Amino acid sequence: MKRVLANDGIDKLGKLLLEEAGFFVETTKAIEGHLAETINNGNFDVLLVRSATKVTSSILDACPNLKLIGRAGVGLDNIDVKYADAKGVKVINTPAASSQSVAELVFAHLFSGVRFLQNSNHEMRNKGETHFNDLKKSYSTGIELQGKTIGIIGFGRIGQAVGKMAIGLGMNVVASDPFIKEAILHIHILPTKQDIPVKISTIPLEDVLTKSDFITLHVPGKINGKAVIGGKELDLMKPGAGIVNAARGGVIDEDALLYALDTKHIAFAGLDVFENEPTPASALLHHPLISLSPHIGASTAEAQERIGKEMAEGIISFFKNN
Ligand code: NAD
Repeated sequence: MKRVLANDGIDKLGKLLLEEAGFFVETTKAIEGHLAETINNGNFDVLLVRSATKVTSSILDACPNLKLIGRAGVGLDNIDVKYADAKGVKVINTPAASSQSVAELVFAHLFSGVRFLQNSNHEMRNKGETHFNDLKKSYSTGIELQGKTIGIIGFGRIGQAVGKMAIGLGMNVVASDPFIKEAILHIHILPTKQDIPVKISTIPLEDVLTKSDFITLHVPGKINGKAVIGGKELDLMKPGAGIVNAARGGVIDEDALLYALDTKHIAFAGLDVFENEPTPASALLHHPLISLSPHIGASTAEAQERIGKEMAEGIISFFKNN
């Protein structure tokens, strides 16, 4: 019987599928600093992680019987993939399972930003009983998303999911992606069961920045160690525009963003990801113009179920073929 250590947990459907296929699945997390020992003592063939567990070269060296590492999610920055490759340990992930959930979170931040919800939630709790009319006045200048232009930087799975939702909301969509010339977005109209294809051709980054009322980032991470959006790019954005980062911490230069918000060039930001997670800069956490979430893009019941299912299928198929 093959043994799986799901060190950061696994959705119950994924666990069930593995157990039905004859795998043993352990979901108790190894004690901090004792991961290798837990893998070896438990004779585990598979280590399943989300983003919390780090799979370093020393873990890989210490666990010669490990055959497969599963990352329940997209980013592989917590796994030394090159070293695993060199040691013949296969690494698999679930790249498509969370795209819709991340896209929806982008809109949660956008809707928050244009109606000041990040701040009014907080102020209503503190002053809603005594200063209702003052608050009503100070939050009276919201705008709609409909009719505005969203600029999507990185037009892969999540970028395209955002594009579809934006079209559904009546927004104009522009996108930049050096590796994708054009994409056909299929808009599914549930009540009438129609499928409407919409072709979006990508344009240069500068044009996306200057044309958009809102920018959202969906690139794989920093490019050559550098932020995709720094001071220069923020300057190119329309005055009063909003920006959302649900990609990776550091894709927006955080200091440059704070400056752009403080000078009111940028109206608001939505951040799900941060440099230095899990200890983000306190200036970001306390800024009234930033809508915040703690890296929960994929944290929905539906995404976790898809991730668990995709991961179980990946593990089962690996042992069928090896
Ligand atoms: P993807 O690989 O499908 O798309 C990324 C796109 O970025 C690709 O099309 C690529 O060509 C493009 N790209 C690369 N360099 C670029 C550049 N310099 N400028 C513009 N585009 C560039 O990936 P995805 O599944 O859409 O994921 C996108 C990001 O979302 C990743 O960083 C991933 O880690 C992150 N993510 C976050 C969460 C969360 O919880 N917030 C969850 C899942 C994924």
